[in-house]
Amino acid sequence: MAALSETQEAGGSKYHCVVPLCNDDGCYKNLMFYRFPSPVSRPELRKQWIAKIRRDEGDYFEITDSTSVCEEHFLEEKNRPGLDNLGRKRLKTAAIPTQFAWHRPKARQKIERHIQLHPDESESGSSDCQTEKKAKREDIHPDEPNVKEQLDAARAEIRHLKAQVEALKLYKFSLERFSMDNDSIKFCTGFVSYQYLVTFYEIVKPSAESMQYCYTSSMSSNPPPGGRTMVLIGELFLFLLRIRLGLLQQDLAHRFNVHESTVSRKVITYANYLYFFLGAQPIWPSKEAVQKHLPQEFRVRYPNTRVVIDCMEIRVQVPSSLLLQS
Ligand SMILES: [Zn+2]
Repeated sequence: MAALSETQEAGGSKYHCVVPLCNDDGCYKNLMFYRFPSPVSRPELRKQWIAKIRRDEGDYFEITDSTSVCEEHFLEEKNRPGLDNLGRKRLKTAAIPTQFAWHRPKARQKIERHIQLHPDESESGSSDCQTEKKAKREDIHPDEPNVKEQLDAARAEIRHLKAQVEALKLYKFSLERFSMDNDSIKFCTGFVSYQYLVTFYEIVKPSAESMQYCYTSSMSSNPPPGGRTMVLIGELFLFLLRIRLGLLQQDLAHRFNVHESTVSRKVITYANYLYFFLGAQPIWPSKEAVQKHLPQEFRVRYPNTRVVIDCMEIRVQVPSSLLLQS
């Protein structure tokens, strides 16, 4: 079994592999190519080779001295070529090609699906069929080194892509990007810290989730047609940027990658919503509460004080016409 074949080896550039879907060519790869077993001394083995590579001898396929199969199809342990005294790869006497492109994962899924779809068949089917299926599943065992290497490479790529996604998340203009930067949060929104902003959001969230969005033609119920394009806290952030920094709608549309009209609708919706939501909050303390906490100077000189409004004057030019001023 372990003896090396004397006649099948055919290394060199003039050969190419006759297996369908295999492009290995002696010109480009340093591979060994093996000729078919002799029809005289080993006709049975020759038949097995032809069956395994799924080709029929005839007008389109004729086996000659130069017809060969590359070493990639002999990677299975029992068929793997051994080294002779001179260090050349020689095929074992009874080796048959078993590794083919149609055995790769896609084919594996198909076979397994077929077995799942026809459980009875696989249990009570003919023994030939069972043996063949079993053989196919063994051929494509995931422990093969090339499959394992591919899996490792794919895992490495996934790790790399995940890191890229994380980096892009930070690069994207969103509230998340400023979550660790309270100075920027204060500059952009007026809230002293990210935590304050989130706390405010948690308070408005329950009713904001069911608020009616303002649309040009009609008032539409939540969520907007086609689903919400931004998360709720993101919409709040957009609104705060508009009123705090006065950013233009076109600017916000670019930053958040939405249409300008979407920015407009969201800003109007939030302005109305917060007007009613915050307007309903009692911000004026009762007369008793105010008097209880009046400073000593006020108790003496202004005992009836309810509110102190801080004002300042700014000189501006106005038209002399009272009508235009109004
Ligand atoms: Zn090949």
